[in-house]
Amino acid sequence: MSGGIKIFALFGNPVGHSLSPLMHNAAFKKLGIVAMYVPLSVDRIGEAVSAVRSLGISGVSVTIPFKTAVMDHLDCMDEAAREIGAVNTIINEGGKLAGANTDWLGLSGAVSSRLGMSGKTFAVIGAGGAARAAAYAIIKGGGSPVILNRTAKKAEELARSSGADAWPLERIGRLKAEGLINATPVGMHPAEGGIPVPPMCLKNFGWVIETVYNPYETMLLKAARASGCRTIRGLEMFVRQGAEQIRIWTGAEPPRDFMKRTVAAALKKTERGKTG
Ligand code: NAP
Repeated sequence: MSGGIKIFALFGNPVGHSLSPLMHNAAFKKLGIVAMYVPLSVDRIGEAVSAVRSLGISGVSVTIPFKTAVMDHLDCMDEAAREIGAVNTIINEGGKLAGANTDWLGLSGAVSSRLGMSGKTFAVIGAGGAARAAAYAIIKGGGSPVILNRTAKKAEELARSSGADAWPLERIGRLKAEGLINATPVGMHPAEGGIPVPPMCLKNFGWVIETVYNPYETMLLKAARASGCRTIRGLEMFVRQGAEQIRIWTGAEPPRDFMKRTVAAALKKTERGKTG
């Protein structure tokens, strides 16, 4: 299909606001790889996966709402994807489709590079795919996750299946820990006024780690800094999960700093557009 150009895709719905195409196309160009990464808004994930085989698409990023549903349509999966219960990366190995999860690597890399995980406790807000990746990453890193979620039953289920603890979200003011991770979409563009926890509880955490990468500065990050916390932006996880996809698809060392500068510039330009 591609006449010498390798084709990569993003499957999700919606995909219009994703910065993955910008980041991945910039990375391919920087590496001198002749490839194109296209966002595709998908209705039926099974049909989209069939197209990967029939069109010879080399690799796919999978995003909301298909990270779990896509698993039924693949030939095999890595251990992390199976344990987390979510695939964000498909690799086409000569027609055999393998699933992987790089979200946990993205989070793990972002946190480990700043404060480390071993022996530390992290409050994880949320119980969906990002929270499952966070719990997996923390346990792998030798830390202890505490899951707090709007729907308490889902927090308890995740805690049971991952070996974490669960706490009622409304009691967060009584929890003290090294880190707090927002694994909900609260605060994400275009609903940027949202904050997933009451700002007055933030003083109980040394670090606040965001998974939302758009906007560049979420309400949570601003409130965390005002409370004296150190912070890690969602951009850090986003770039690292994307860099791991590049590594898996091409075997090349991903130009991570360049990818980060590319995405950060786009996000800052959007912020300036809002205020200017
Ligand atoms: P998901 O599976 O849909 O889970 C969302 C979780 O957030 C659920 O536990 C849900 O609670 C909770 N939630 C949703 N809206 C809420 C609200 N208004 N108030 C309180 N809790 C709320 O989504 P996901 O795949 O985990 O993704 C979550 C976020 O992670 C995404 O929006 C994205 O920003 C971020 N993410 C970032 C990266 C990155 O590379 N930076 C990668 C993956 C994900 P209930 O259980 O009560 O519904």
